[in-house]
Amino acid sequence: AIRVDGLSKRFGKAGPVVLDNINLTIRPGEFVCLLGASGCGKSTLLNIIAGLEHPSEGTVTVASGKSAVMFQESALFPWLTASRNVELALKLRGVPHGRRRGEALELLDLVNLADAANKRPHELSGGMRQRVALARSLAQDRKVLLMDEPFAALDAITRDLLHEELERVWRETGRTIVFVTHNVREAARLGQRVLLMSSRPGRIRNEWRIVDDGPRRIESPEVSRLSI
Ligand code: ATP
Ligand code: MG
Repeated sequence: AIRVDGLSKRFGKAGPVVLDNINLTIRPGEFVCLLGASGCGKSTLLNIIAGLEHPSEGTVTVASGKSAVMFQESALFPWLTASRNVELALKLRGVPHGRRRGEALELLDLVNLADAANKRPHELSGGMRQRVALARSLAQDRKVLLMDEPFAALDAITRDLLHEELERVWRETGRTIVFVTHNVREAARLGQRVLLMSSRPGRIRNEWRIVDDGPRRIESPEVSRLSI
């Protein structure tokens, strides 16, 4: 679904190399976590895959065309209800007026938020707002979902709930997900595959396949040395 070939990035002509010769392939339907310490270039790589930034060298191909992106701050429209926020994404996708409300409610139901459809963002908790943002990303109906630390601002209990929901959404919708985090436990909990990035310059330093047959964890001296 996603192919990155010889990707390098520097900001400005004389700036330091932020990403250095990144090569990776992500299969359709795969859940990949991009793990690395702050400043290693995770967001830059994700933004380039999303088409929000240009590579300095190399190419990125997203087979299904465009992707949906979700950030740490959900940036919902404050004057619109949860349902209307999702309906707006459906409108931008060209879904006819008469079908938008029904589809929005289905998507909110998928993220366990049907009861809050008519609430505005300030009436919702942080976790609920990120659920709305997830529903809105799904409303764009892209095969690929790019997520940049979407749960980093949430407390641990809410984050655990969101992990369960994201995993269910992933299984039910068959999306390809690239999930950026600096949290080792989060990466091990969610990913089928974890790509560890090193910094200065940003490279893929190691890669783990997560075997889902018991408590999921990454045990590696590299991870502890990074003190992520
Ligand atoms: P964090 O975990 O803190 O979000 P990150 O891994 O996402 O970090 P990036 O935001 O990708 O890191 O930044 C990687 C490097 O590129 C940093 O050194 C940062 O200062 C630099 N950088 C990012 N965006 C720009 C920009 N627009 N202009 C100049 N430098 C930038
Ligand atoms: Mg970042």
